[in-house]
Amino acid sequence: DRIARKRDREFSQFRERIKDADQFKVTESVFDEATYGALYKLVQDGHIDAFGGPISTGKEANVYTALRGDEEVAVKIYRINASDFREMGEYLEGDPRFEEVAGNKKAVVVGWVRKEFANLERARAAGVRVPEPIAVERNVLVMEYLGAEDGRAKRLAEVSIENPETAYEVVREYMYRLYDAGIVHGDLSEYNIVVQDSQLYVIDVGQAVTIHHPNSEDFLERDCENVAAFFNRQGVDTDGDQLLAYIHEH
Ligand code: ATP
Ligand code: MN
Repeated sequence: DRIARKRDREFSQFRERIKDADQFKVTESVFDEATYGALYKLVQDGHIDAFGGPISTGKEANVYTALRGDEEVAVKIYRINASDFREMGEYLEGDPRFEEVAGNKKAVVVGWVRKEFANLERARAAGVRVPEPIAVERNVLVMEYLGAEDGRAKRLAEVSIENPETAYEVVREYMYRLYDAGIVHGDLSEYNIVVQDSQLYVIDVGQAVTIHHPNSEDFLERDCENVAAFFNRQGVDTDGDQLLAYIHEH
């Protein structure tokens, strides 16, 4: 009917507009048909008003800026084709919220993005600074943008830390709060912690698992090793075992 035809026409115009946009030229491979659909839905639902430039091109996902009204937001788009589904599926294991999708390819990515959204919500509720989750659609996550004066907020690995002892205590407290709320980050390091207005934020929680995951203790141990090693290099007297003990016994 007429309305459906109008909708189809609007969608194809939208898709052409995105395909032509300069910022997406280099990374066109991100976008399969269904991803255009997801972006279109996010625009229709008022979560995205204009697309900005790329912030990061990672192994599994690209991150872009966008405008939502006059607020800047971050849009993380998982590449369905590039993603290692089997590996991703393993991170859904033992999580009662997502277990049923762990075997199915497309469902795994969609489940993964929803898990990232849910983990951001849970981390926030637990008192851990993370980007505020805004919307999720298929393989696309919209969240609060963390910025600095000259672009995206810097990773902990990119800044010189004024007071490493205090920063370490903050990260330790975050790890404890996450664990207390039943989640383990699973990829925590100076690359997944960013600094905005002197505050530390944890990012990239897609792979975070619940403590019911069969490997959650191994992941926690690895996180502790990575975080402690980083702060040790900054002059803090700690190691992975001490950090792990703190999280277990606090
Ligand atoms: P990588 O494989 O590079 O770790 P990733 O797929 O794990 O990428 P993220 O770590 O979530 O994805 O994001 C990649 C980079 O994009 C981050 O290191 C950070 O610099 C930037 N970034 C992610 N989310 C945001 C955000 N909400 N605000 C500002 N910058 C962000
Ligand atoms: Mn990351």
